[in-house]
Amino acid sequence: MERPVQYNNKVKFAGIPEGYMGEGFMATNFEKVVSLARKNSIWPLPFATSCCGIEFMATMASHYDLARFGSERVGFSPRQCDLLMVMGTIAKKMGPVLKQVYVQMAEPRWVIAVGACASSGGIFDTYSVLQGIDQVIPVDVYVPGCPPRPEAILDGFMKIQELVHAEGLRRRNSDRYKDLMESYGIQ
Ligand code: SF4
Repeated sequence: MERPVQYNNKVKFAGIPEGYMGEGFMATNFEKVVSLARKNSIWPLPFATSCCGIEFMATMASHYDLARFGSERVGFSPRQCDLLMVMGTIAKKMGPVLKQVYVQMAEPRWVIAVGACASSGGIFDTYSVLQGIDQVIPVDVYVPGCPPRPEAILDGFMKIQELVHAEGLRRRNSDRYKDLMESYGIQ
C-alpha cells in the first residue's frame, strides 16, 4: 500500500507566486515564476582572499548551512555562477582580476561585498589596497563587519534574494543598467 507523504512542519517551501488558482490549475505570469526560481537557486562564486573567507566557510558548514536557501552548489567557474561573493582584502593588483571574473559571469549576475575590506578597504587605508570593490565592479549588497558573523553574511544573502525576487526580467536591457555598466567600462 502506498504511504501518504509526510512533511516535516519545520520545512518551509518556496512561496507560491501570486496568480489565479482553481481546482487542478494555477495561472500566473512568466516573470513571477522566473524570479521565484532565480531567488531560490542562486549559485555563489566565493572570491575569498583573506579572513572573511573563513567566516564564509562557517556559513557554508552544517550549523548555518547556506544550502537551506537553495545555494549549496558553490561554483568556482564564473560562467556557471550568478552571485559573486567578494570576501577579504582586495589589493589594487587584484582589481583587474576581480573585474575579469565579474565580466566572465553571465547575466543576470549579482555581487555582495562581504566585510569591511571588500566594502571599503577596511583597516587597510594604504597605497596598495583597493578602497572598496565598487571602484572596479558594481555592488548590490554590502555586509558590514570585520569580520561579519555568518548571520550577517546570511542576512546579506537574503537581501540579495529580495533583490533577485523583485527584479524585472527586462532590467538588464534598460538604458539605466547599460549606463551603469558603461560607467565601469563594461559593455
Ligand atoms: S574585514 Fe576584517 S576579517 Fe574581513 S578580510 Fe578584512 S581584516 Fe579580515
